[in-house]
Amino acid sequence: MSDPMTQSPGLPLDPTPTDRSNQPELGTHPRQRAWVEVSGPAITANVRALRRSMDPGCQLMAVVKADGYGHGAVPVARAAAAGGASCFGVATLGEGLELRQAGFQEPVLVLGNLIQPEELRNCLQAQLMPTVSTMREALLCQNLASGSGRPMAVHLKVDTGMTRLGADWQEGPRLAQAISNLDSIQLAGIYSHLAHADAPINQTLDQQDHQDEDLSRLQLQRYQSVLAEVQNQGLAVGCRHLANSAGTLRSPSLHFDLVRVGLALYGHRPAAHLGNGIALRPAMRVRARVSLLRDVPAGVGVSYGHRFITQRPSRLAVVGIGYADGVPRLLSGQLKVLHRGRLLPQVGAITMDQMVIDVTDAPDLELGATVTLLGSENDIEPGISPETWSDACGTIPWEILCGFKHRLPRLGTDS
Ligand SMILES: *Cc1c(COP(=O)(O)O)cnc(C)c1O
Repeated sequence: MSDPMTQSPGLPLDPTPTDRSNQPELGTHPRQRAWVEVSGPAITANVRALRRSMDPGCQLMAVVKADGYGHGAVPVARAAAAGGASCFGVATLGEGLELRQAGFQEPVLVLGNLIQPEELRNCLQAQLMPTVSTMREALLCQNLASGSGRPMAVHLKVDTGMTRLGADWQEGPRLAQAISNLDSIQLAGIYSHLAHADAPINQTLDQQDHQDEDLSRLQLQRYQSVLAEVQNQGLAVGCRHLANSAGTLRSPSLHFDLVRVGLALYGHRPAAHLGNGIALRPAMRVRARVSLLRDVPAGVGVSYGHRFITQRPSRLAVVGIGYADGVPRLLSGQLKVLHRGRLLPQVGAITMDQMVIDVTDAPDLELGATVTLLGSENDIEPGISPETWSDACGTIPWEILCGFKHRLPRLGTDS
């Protein structure tokens, strides 16, 4: 590995350069402080691996909401399309528009609810498909589209047990009928969302497990009954979809015509028992640089509240990443970072922009060295997973990933 300092422009040594056009702007070099590396090839490979496990006729929707789960929506969409994703899922109008502005022509489904006429008008204009849960939204779409000369494609969502977005499943067939009667709307799909597809599959004696397994089965039955009734009414159902990552990995019986894959796209399994036969590669690596080294005696309190007291003469490294960058403060004192294959403990409270690492056992670590907080150092070893973090602070890997927002530069990598 090359010396990390030589990759950084740092401060210009010559204060009077005449032509600075080839120099990065002072202070904005992406590898100066902390950054996220995103592997497009990993995302492409994950889509390919998932598709190999699916029926060839089943489509894969890459869910790139929340800025591609913190990886960057546009590069993720590009990499996913290269692997065979045929459409995209976003949560908001703005996220859909971002894909259109980047030039993507694939179908885009807005998974959240749009209730303002203005939002739906933008949807129509950009040819994004809204999710419709009520007749009110369907009529808004009808009114907007009837003047426009082109029908508006929508997906009807039915709630089969998640109790969030969607029409009650028993209302589904009636709504589908009513929507089909609107001449400016095309019912492009009917979908639902699973509430607990990551539940254990093996039947055990645990009561909760039985209930969870039953919940997915019940949701599947309800969804199938909606589809059957709609078909009995002589209507075209369009695209049928039910599965998120967990449903996709759980059983082909949940796949229907399309699967909506988020977490697995980024290389993570929604539960330890799912997707073991599929090689998924984590796409994100989070790195930061050591900005100060200090030698301190035993008995010194570190960071806010002195939650850590050195037990021995220690060498401490300040690293320029903190909770404002997406590292949960709840991980204070539990985090470990990688440096040349060694795990080094973070000590004391994680602060907004920095944290302190105990590097007493890593005497070779130098000022400016890069440490890896998430992911691997070399693509070979497994590295540190978001599950390690989420288990330690009582959340889920989804929240860890999408916690990395724009404050950290994101750099695409070719491997
Ligand atoms: C976010 C989302 C998904 C993707 O979920 P993962 O568990 O990350 O695969 C699928 N469907 C809907 C409706 C969603 O909101």
